[in-house]
Formats: sequence, structure tokens, C-alpha cells
Amino acid sequence: MGQYGQHDNIKNRQLTCQRQDRGFHILDVEIDHDLESTCSSGLCDIKESDIPLHKYTDIPEFLQGNPFVTHGYRVALPFSLCLKSAFVWSNETLNIWSHFGGFFLFLFLMLYDNIIIIPNYNGGYTDHIIITLGLLCFQFCMLCSTGFHIFGCHSERASKRWLAVDLAGILIGVIGCYLPAVHYAFYCLSIWRDIYLICITVLSLSTLFVQFHPRYFSNTWFKQRIAIYFGLVAYGVIPTTHWIYLSGGFSEKIVQMFVPKVVTMYLLGALAFAFYISKFPERFFPGRFNYVGSSHQLWHIGMVVAFYWMNKTVCDIFTYRYSTSCNDHIN
Ligand SMILES: [Zn+2]
Repeated sequence: MGQYGQHDNIKNRQLTCQRQDRGFHILDVEIDHDLESTCSSGLCDIKESDIPLHKYTDIPEFLQGNPFVTHGYRVALPFSLCLKSAFVWSNETLNIWSHFGGFFLFLFLMLYDNIIIIPNYNGGYTDHIIITLGLLCFQFCMLCSTGFHIFGCHSERASKRWLAVDLAGILIGVIGCYLPAVHYAFYCLSIWRDIYLICITVLSLSTLFVQFHPRYFSNTWFKQRIAIYFGLVAYGVIPTTHWIYLSGGFSEKIVQMFVPKVVTMYLLGALAFAFYISKFPERFFPGRFNYVGSSHQLWHIGMVVAFYWMNKTVCDIFTYRYSTSCNDHIN
């Protein structure tokens, strides 16, 4: 247990914190100070020395997972310091801000699309609902991820709970891609639009349901988790192929316009996922990307870019729908 000497101290620190237990928890994060006093204590004023950072070899097992990020871990921080730690450099700082920034990007796009784009093309209330729902899904995904990266270090229970929140957020993000895309792609083929929307709802609910399996969040189920999400994303190939066929094949203008956009979306997602799964580049330079440039940060940026691209594609197909009639491309 020699190498966990520091970990023992960390455990003790956590026990000290738990003595002030006021019996108030949010998603297994014990609230040590109320939010008001945490905020008024000056979130930006803290020094780096207030948040101790640890080596990979010193952190408890629940925080381990990427040995190539060798330093910069926050361990067993109480609620208020978790929040404050977003303002100091740790190996989670960019993970937190990349998705918190993403939340504001999609909030801005939601306002922009609703106030500028949709009225410009005389879109109806259904367009407002569909495009807003898609962007709300992206915002939800971003906030879940931000929460996971802020509070994951609090305790093992909190880490598991917030991982569940993070994964549920990704699921909602994927739904946010499917919902408007299927709605506008099958705009003139409403029976197929409804069938595919039902399929996606069933698949998403099944994915959510599997999360209740007691071993779902264990490390032994890592591959199963990846396989389930991979299946959910890969499923999109079926409606896309069907849509190409129903639209008249590759010679049709609408297919030539939108298939490259869908392919780009998949390539962006695949690139982001490749960073996530390969732990590149830190795998080849352990310790060099502890704070900036690690695979998880690249995965985060890839997700934001992919969601942004998806929203842009949805707006393009929406404007296309309003500038052409269904009779123009349905035989
Ligand atoms: Zn993340």
C-alpha cells in the first residue's frame, strides 16, 4: 500500500469533510457550503495551492483510467472546492470549460435560429419546436458533461453517479442529432418519418434502460457501453440509406447536397471517438499533455464541432424544404 500513502491522507481529508454533513446531497455530491456562500467567497480569488493536485499513482482507483495523463488530478474535493477548482489549472480544467462553453454556443444558436433563421423562411411553430428541441438536447449534453468533470473527483459514489449523468447526456445529444435530421429528411414522407422517429425513441429508451444494470458503470462493462453507443450512432446508416433510395438515388440534387454533410458528420464523430478510445496523443508522450491537448479534451472539442455541424446541416435542410415543394423531388 506504500504508493497509496498520499491516498490515505486524501481519504482522511474526505472523512473530515463528512463530519460537517448537513444531510444535503445533490446526485451524491455532499453540499458542504450553500451555493450562496460558495459564490460570495470569491470563486476567482483562489490560488492554485488551495486545490492540491495529485500524481496518477497516488489517486484512488475510481479516478484511474488514463495512466498517460500522469499528473494534475483533483481528489476527494468537497462541493465548494469542486466548483472553485474550475478556475485553477488541473487536468480537468479544459474538459470543464470546453463543454461549458459549448453549452453557451448552443444556447446562442437556439436564440439565433429561432429569432433570425426560422422567421426568415416563414417557418411554422413545428420548426421552432423541432430545431429548439435539437439544440436543447445539445445543451443538456454539454451541462451533464460539465457536471461530471467538475464533481467526478468528489467521491467514488459521486463519480459513478455523474458518469451515469454524463452518459445519459451523450444519449440525449445523439437524440438531438436524430430528431431534427429525421424530421426534415423525411419531411415529404411522413409515414417513414414517424416510423424512424419511433425506432429512435425505442432504441434510446432501451439504451437508457440498460444503464440500470448493476454492472453497467463498472470498468468490466466498458466495451459493452461503447458497443451500445456505437450501435445507436451506427443505426443512422439505415434511415440515411433508405432516404437516398426514396429520394431517387445519388443522381438527385437533394442527395448530392446532403449526403456529403451527413458523411462529414459521421467523420467528425468518428475522429472525436478515435481520440477518446486511442488515448492519442498522450499515449505516445506520457505526461506531456496532462493539462492541454489530451485525448479527452480533443474528444470534447470534436463533440462540440460535430453538434455544431449537425445544427448547421439541419438549418440548411430546413431552408431547402421551405424553398422547394415536396412535389419537386418525390416521384
Ligand atoms: Zn468528458
